[in-house]
Amino acid sequence: MRYISTRGTAPVLSFEEAMLTGLARDGGLYVPEEIPTISAADIKALRGLSYEEVAYRIMRPFIGDTFTDAEFTDIIARSYAGFGHDARAPLVQIGQNHYLLELFHGPTLAFKDFAMQLIGQLFEAALTRSGERVTIVGATSGDTGSAAIEAFRGLDAVDVFILFPKGRVSEVQRRQMTTPSEANVHALAVEGDFDTCQAAVKDMFNDFDFRDGVRLAGVNSINWARVLAQVVYYFTSAVSLGAPDRAISFTVPTGNFGDIFAGYIARRMGLPIEKLVVATNQNDILDRCLKTGVYKTEGVTPSISPSMDIQVSSNFERALFDAYGRDGAAVKAQMDELKETGQFTVSQGALESLRETFASGRASEEETSATITRAHKTMNEILCPHSAIGVHVAEAHLSATPMITLATAHPAKFPDAVEAAMGARPPLPSRMADLYDRSERMTEVAGGLPEIQSIIRDRIKA
Ligand SMILES: *Cc1c(COP(=O)(O)O)cnc(C)c1O
Repeated sequence: MRYISTRGTAPVLSFEEAMLTGLARDGGLYVPEEIPTISAADIKALRGLSYEEVAYRIMRPFIGDTFTDAEFTDIIARSYAGFGHDARAPLVQIGQNHYLLELFHGPTLAFKDFAMQLIGQLFEAALTRSGERVTIVGATSGDTGSAAIEAFRGLDAVDVFILFPKGRVSEVQRRQMTTPSEANVHALAVEGDFDTCQAAVKDMFNDFDFRDGVRLAGVNSINWARVLAQVVYYFTSAVSLGAPDRAISFTVPTGNFGDIFAGYIARRMGLPIEKLVVATNQNDILDRCLKTGVYKTEGVTPSISPSMDIQVSSNFERALFDAYGRDGAAVKAQMDELKETGQFTVSQGALESLRETFASGRASEEETSATITRAHKTMNEILCPHSAIGVHVAEAHLSATPMITLATAHPAKFPDAVEAAMGARPPLPSRMADLYDRSERMTEVAGGLPEIQSIIRDRIKA
């Protein structure tokens, strides 16, 4: 299995190389050269299997010869052992033909654990074999950083540096990043907002001397291995509702388009998915783009669903690449235009192709809160604000086809917004009830990129 860039000029890589590299050197994102398919009979054979067994069968074709069968089985087992639910991704019914896929039973209570735990084990296995070390650098608005730190803490071959906007993540998120005591974990509280952090990470990756000098590796949602890990729960959930004999639709609370793009891959592999519904908050660039064909940045308005507060949606480039018939030059032209003018217009053909798979909707702040209130009263379900956006948008797309809405975080991760909507504070699961008692450790950064780079150089020498 080989991986190519969405902008067409970066080197073709193996799975291992694509996983360790993250962003391609031409600025594009890696995608498989060909998407493997799975027959209806093989999908049927997934019925009744454990999450880990399905994960193995779905991901194996993408891994190539990077790991042996036994190694990969072991990597998957270790990735999901720390989850607080035996089903890993349990499905509950919340309404007529409407189901909720609970993706928040991992160690940091958000769906990002599914991918990050796997990436941690993949990196450790590959680097231990080659005797190398890498430096993971990531920017976070909250959930990615805590998931990355939890996945890499204590691993021998990796230092992990997470940049988060100081004072702009929830207390639970901050504590999940600052309480691990392992020496390879470095939480950096950066003066600025999420875009400041993300720009610093991008600049470090574009500084090739620095990038090669510290062996930088990225685990942001553009990393192909993360997308791949997320393909699995589309299969487990659809199969438990009768796929492949029955088509299923999904609604996905969306920010960087990583999670929903995994659903697109599942569909391309042969899972009968009727529609993938993009659900956004008031930062609705994707909803506007799918409705009008114009992809136009408008700045970020902070919301009660901070993990979806994005200005541009990085993984959307992967969907565009396919919509443009895998024409890397066309994608590059659009991305250059975006950089210069802040917008581009999707061609009519590409837009039609996107709309075959994707529908979309948005939820305002009021609609999000009202959905949390209503779900508590009438569905016996406590939703986090991100999941509430999914439920709100899904309800406008219900049909005879079963709808699965992805619940992307545990409500206790966003206690203020949940309390405001339903009058009670959602408790943390008992396995992490002492989070507020653990001591914190972080480095505050006010000096921008040069200071960040010197902190990284010093710490990895130590
Ligand atoms: C990251 C995140 C999202 C958005 O996922 P994308 O893959 O970026 O689209 C939604 N909800 C929660 C809770 C998240 O952490």
